[in-house]
Amino acid sequence: MAVATVEISLPALLHNIKYFKGVAVNSQIMAILKANAYGHGLVEVAKYLQDRVESFGVARLDEALQLRNAGIVRPILLLEGFFSNDDLSLLERYSLQTVVHCPEQIARLKSFKTRYPITVWFKIDSGMHRLGFRGEEALQHLIQLADCASVVKPIHITSHFCSADEIKNPYTQSQIEFFEIFLSEVEKNHIPIGCKSLAASGGILAWPHSHHDVIRPGIGLYGVSPFSYHTEGKATGAQLGLEPVMTLKSELIAVRNHLKGEAVGYNQIWNSARDTKLGVAAMGYGDGYPRNIPAGVPVLINGQRLPIVGRVSMDMTVIDLGPNSTAKVGDEVIFWGPMLPVEEIAALAGFSAYELLTSLTGRTILLYKSDINPAL
Ligand SMILES: *Cc1c(COP(=O)(O)O)cnc(C)c1O
Repeated sequence: MAVATVEISLPALLHNIKYFKGVAVNSQIMAILKANAYGHGLVEVAKYLQDRVESFGVARLDEALQLRNAGIVRPILLLEGFFSNDDLSLLERYSLQTVVHCPEQIARLKSFKTRYPITVWFKIDSGMHRLGFRGEEALQHLIQLADCASVVKPIHITSHFCSADEIKNPYTQSQIEFFEIFLSEVEKNHIPIGCKSLAASGGILAWPHSHHDVIRPGIGLYGVSPFSYHTEGKATGAQLGLEPVMTLKSELIAVRNHLKGEAVGYNQIWNSARDTKLGVAAMGYGDGYPRNIPAGVPVLINGQRLPIVGRVSMDMTVIDLGPNSTAKVGDEVIFWGPMLPVEEIAALAGFSAYELLTSLTGRTILLYKSDINPAL
């Protein structure tokens, strides 16, 4: 029985879905499930959400195929689009939607013979400058795309923010305006369009004007704040009114006496300033708790915050329990969860919460709880 566990609170997930419905009452929800649903388990999360959201978004074809093979029938959008003609055949066969962001994709669609046309989202570059058609050439490409027999009409339109995690950054507003100007241009040219979608978690929560027809929450669904950790009052999901879904935890597999001046672990990077007791937890970078998390970052044992010491190793992490500790082998060790925000651990360790969640390696057991009291 493995002790390193990712525990998922389904009631928290449900709370967050209702939260987003309340924030964007006129929009549909496309739940973003890329990177194994941010470490929460792609198929399990999709099964739980399939009657609660309108559609799903993933980054890779393989993720979409896993969902279809698990019996998920909701619309699924490939956020990065397709890369080859073989991909296109799979899109048709599995009824997958795709983003179209470059002329090469339009050329493939033009020559693609299909029995069932493909639903596409035309992506414009509203200022992130990563994917999407630039403003000055977008209209002409949209006209070409609309001319493809292999494509469902009307075409949906999308774009993505680059700095919506910075609440005070005015650039997001300029991206909103860019998007709207493009939509009115399309309208002036009498090109029918389908749904419009612009906002991910940050946009949804801080820029109501960005909601349009479909919102695309990712990290917020999992109860984690999309905002940078230094954003006052919005640094954690709980501060926003979201409920953290994941608890990363394990157990103490050893409690050892340790003498002042002794080091612990690889490369002896920490020496104890006192006689103390050290706890060894079965959790390491082989599970996704990063190797370079610095000494001093807290874990929770029996409700108490205690610092990790020494270097995180592949399968184990050492905690300074203190000289008077009564902790014993088998006690639970929480690395992050509702009472120890992943945003805080990420900030202390120099990561983003997105990275910590998606770095989980899959070795941990994923456990789905339907009756967790989030206060515990
Ligand atoms: C990842 C992603 C999202 C979700 O972003 P969050 O910040 O996690 O809410 C939405 N849209 C696109 C295009 C993405 O790549």
